[in-house]
Amino acid sequence: MDLTRLSHSSNMCFADRATRLFVGGVLVYTGLFQYGLSDSALINTLAGVFGLTNIIASVVGICPGYLLANFSTNKNATQDLPLDQSDSRQETDSQHPAVASYTTNLKGESIHRILLLSITVPVAIVLAVFAYLFFELSTSYRESSDTIAVTSIAEMALLFESTGEASFADYRNENVVAIVFHDAYGNVIPTVLEKIPSDPKLRRMVLEQVALKNNDSARKFEFHGNSLIKSTESLVDRGLHVSVFYKSSDTSSTMFYPLVSRLVFAVLLALWLSGWTAHYILKRYTEYVAKNSEAIRFRSTHDLLTGLPNRTGLEEMLHERVTQYKNNQAFAVITVDIANFHYFNDTLGHKLGDKLLIEISSRLKSIIHSHESLARLNGDEFCAVISLNGDHNDAFDEAAKIRRAICQPINIDAVRLDVECNIGLSIYPDQSTDAVDLIRLSNIALHYTKGQSVHITAYDAAQDRHDDKSLAIITGLQTAIEDGQLKLVYQPKIDVKTGELHGVEALVRWQHPIYQTVPPVEFIGWAEKSGLINQLTKWVLSTAELQSKEWLEKGMSIPIAVNLSPINLEDEQILSIIKHAATEGYFQGGLLELELTENAVVKNIDKAFEKMGEIKALGVSISIDDFGTGLASFSYLRNFPVTNLKIDRSFVNIEAPDEHDLVLLHSMIELGHNLNCVVTAEGVENDETLELLRASECDFAQGYHICRPISPNEIEHWIEENKISLFDIHTNSTAYPKIYRNVA
Ligand code: C2E
Ligand code: CA
Ligand code: CA
Repeated sequence: MDLTRLSHSSNMCFADRATRLFVGGVLVYTGLFQYGLSDSALINTLAGVFGLTNIIASVVGICPGYLLANFSTNKNATQDLPLDQSDSRQETDSQHPAVASYTTNLKGESIHRILLLSITVPVAIVLAVFAYLFFELSTSYRESSDTIAVTSIAEMALLFESTGEASFADYRNENVVAIVFHDAYGNVIPTVLEKIPSDPKLRRMVLEQVALKNNDSARKFEFHGNSLIKSTESLVDRGLHVSVFYKSSDTSSTMFYPLVSRLVFAVLLALWLSGWTAHYILKRYTEYVAKNSEAIRFRSTHDLLTGLPNRTGLEEMLHERVTQYKNNQAFAVITVDIANFHYFNDTLGHKLGDKLLIEISSRLKSIIHSHESLARLNGDEFCAVISLNGDHNDAFDEAAKIRRAICQPINIDAVRLDVECNIGLSIYPDQSTDAVDLIRLSNIALHYTKGQSVHITAYDAAQDRHDDKSLAIITGLQTAIEDGQLKLVYQPKIDVKTGELHGVEALVRWQHPIYQTVPPVEFIGWAEKSGLINQLTKWVLSTAELQSKEWLEKGMSIPIAVNLSPINLEDEQILSIIKHAATEGYFQGGLLELELTENAVVKNIDKAFEKMGEIKALGVSISIDDFGTGLASFSYLRNFPVTNLKIDRSFVNIEAPDEHDLVLLHSMIELGHNLNCVVTAEGVENDETLELLRASECDFAQGYHICRPISPNEIEHWIEENKISLFDIHTNSTAYPKIYRNVA
């Protein structure tokens, strides 16, 4: 224990100190002064000493147990668990503190379970202790009071018999079963006070006991389920003996005081213990959530190999910078591409390739001032953001400096590597004032160098010509929606535990007359920019609803998830289409689910919040899509009307996952559950991943391993075919998908 911390401020809050003072006082008084807690001197002393330590702790304000557990109930304490969020961004080690540290905390356990335990366990312990104390007290109390009663009655009887003076009212006491005067040999001597039971069996037993001659002590024995106490007193000089038989009395009223004092003590202790543990666990849990959110956020904005920000992180930084500078301070966005990197990777192996990237990133860090931004965009592309003072030609000088640093020979594991690189750059605010656009322009310039003999190129509008396909997409989308060139494919989601089909996600495809199937990533962005996204979403919603109708008519109720763009939330028509479909149309009964990406929600938080609430009230469930890739934080998700989290496939589909990846995935599922969300993992590409998800208690899974996105007919076949293979392999049960039962 670090005793120097004792000099720090108190680690107990006022309520904690007051409770301890009170409970400590009660313990000291009853344990050390009254000896009233138990008949065992040891228990009384231990309880008293425990009480004393609590009084001392509450007076000093420091609990040594808290110090050991690095815990405190005092908000202002200095020794609270530090949340190490110190600049972890620039770490070069792949084990970043933000990612590594959470592994030690409450791993794998649900807060509900722990909280329940924290209350029930102390209560159970205390009740068990109380039951013991009660039992001990009631038996010993009853025995001792009975023995005293019967002995004194025997003495009285003897005195009365010899002197005739004592008043002997106890003769009529209903608990006195028999009074027998006898000689030393057990022969009965009849007297006035004699009381012999009329019941023949009882009388025989009494007389047998008298004849036993063990007349000198009180004895206890059973008769027909009753405890009888016998006490014998003798008048030695007259050879007269009296044996009194006494039925054990009901002493509950006399035991009232000691029992109540023990009960109060037990209840106090139970309350205190469970209050303390619940408080402790909640505090630890809050820290755990904060750390995990930090870890997830770190992962979504950083490249774990080099510790540099990734594209999302860079966009975030650039966005801040653009907002902050407001055109006053020019800067260059410099994108660097390592030439022939795949060649190093292929010939020397991934490990050496990784070392090469780490070396390049540390060279970049050494020449770029700390206040400037540096990022790894993808595999072999880095990006630096450098402030320009006056002459924009400085940008070229900076780029040349970067190139010189990288193109120095590099020795890795005794292998000398000669690295080449190409650089493209764009300039703020001259060429664009938008963060994402600046990166795009600098990329265009970079790609331009590849076809040229130069190694550094600045962006020029002439380089930025749309290729034929992009042009065809931009000009043809509206026609495509109107002329039926779009179609929907569906990808199943299954229940991880049972293997049952949970629903399908509708994904749009464009059957282009020239370019055949165009995937959504190639046109959704344009649809959003051009405003066509509302028209597209309306088409998707109505097509999916028609599909739902067709399936319902075949006896299959399959929930369908539709992807929404944030722009859609502002379109009243779309909201009324959703409302109609969910309350009167073919999506009734919870058959519609909507998916919104994390960033879509974050960017327009107030609006999204309001609309999502309205949608949820219609019985439509809402998923946060691509969870983990955006800037969401758990604190706002807690208040959001979200029912489902879809963990992005970058967290799920990892080649050779290490312990950190597994823990991160596991805690994302765990935190999702603690937000009362159902958790779906996307991008499941193999059986190991599915196993892992099952072990982590993930609810639903989606991915190529289960099924690729396919046409509605193929979905029906898939259900038919997989009712055995999918379900029997994974659950060893004969459970069929719900919808199969409907079909049958
Ligand atoms: P998303 O919503 O995350 O959809 C899942 C994407 O992951 C789909 O790509 C799907 O084909 C793909 N995928 C599924 N399983 C796996 C797997 O195991 N491994 C890998 N590597 N990928 C898998 P798709 O269909 O190309 O869609 C891409 C994105 O386009 C979607 O991502 C969604 O954001 C958007 N999108 C698709 N359809 C629509 C639509 O109707 N409306 C809107 N607004 N966006 C759509
Ligand atoms: Ca989706
Ligand atoms: Ca997704």
